Amino acid sequence: MPELPEVQTILDALTPHILHQPIRAVALVWRGVVDRPEPTLFSAWLTGRQVVHTARRGKYMLFRLDNDRWLILHLRMTGKMRVVDAHEPWRPHDRLIFHLAHGRDWRFEDQRKFGRAYLVEDPAEIVGALGPEPLSAAFHPDYLAQVLARRTAAIKSLLLDQRIVAGIGNIYADEALFRARIHPLQPGGTLTPTEITALTQAIKTILTQALAEMGTTLRDYRRPDGSVGAFQNRLQVFRRTGQPCPSCGTPIQRIVVGGRSTHFCPQEQRLKPIEH
Ligand SMILES: [Zn+2]
Repeated sequence: MPELPEVQTILDALTPHILHQPIRAVALVWRGVVDRPEPTLFSAWLTGRQVVHTARRGKYMLFRLDNDRWLILHLRMTGKMRVVDAHEPWRPHDRLIFHLAHGRDWRFEDQRKFGRAYLVEDPAEIVGALGPEPLSAAFHPDYLAQVLARRTAAIKSLLLDQRIVAGIGNIYADEALFRARIHPLQPGGTLTPTEITALTQAIKTILTQALAEMGTTLRDYRRPDGSVGAFQNRLQVFRRTGQPCPSCGTPIQRIVVGGRSTHFCPQEQRLKPIEH
């Protein structure tokens, strides 16, 4: 699933092609892609409008329209964005197509059909409950200490909770916990202030590096021009089960935490006894 670096990379590449281009028509190839309003209204409200501003919040892409409504897109597992010549044949998994005034199409392709489009007057309706952006000043050790206090859930699961911090998924949670040398099953409320500071910094560092590398391509993620990211070459533990830890050589171990595949170094990320 695309996480913060992938969503930001896609949005940055897409923006110059779609900004200030009136939407001539909307082709709803699969109506289920529209979460709200009902699909007929969705198409009617978008036709003739243009995107005047783009932004990202967590894993959501936000497009402000010239009538102050917002189009919001979430790629979920397999969603992809492309801007192509309108004459180019549709692909089997194209779900939503915006015909733009300059003769090109903005296409949302999604094999697994989990991706969604929203059209709302107030973006808070969709993104209002998200936690802070991890690269913002609001994501600070004091904030993390406050939200983790007394939490008994595994820190890995808490990092994936978008209400705690927005935009982190399975890949960057594992990489950040390794960098901070914290066991993924450690209950959130048992982290020391030193560990919380290390984790906050690890998250910021990993995400900044992944942004610079245009994201991580393991299977589905592509930039809008079809090219891949490069951060997969920098992964230390994610999907490296059995391979030597880059730091100490111990084989990387895989466990399942909250239903998610989790990778860590059993030598350097030790589960601490819980004090009562
Ligand atoms: Zn190690």
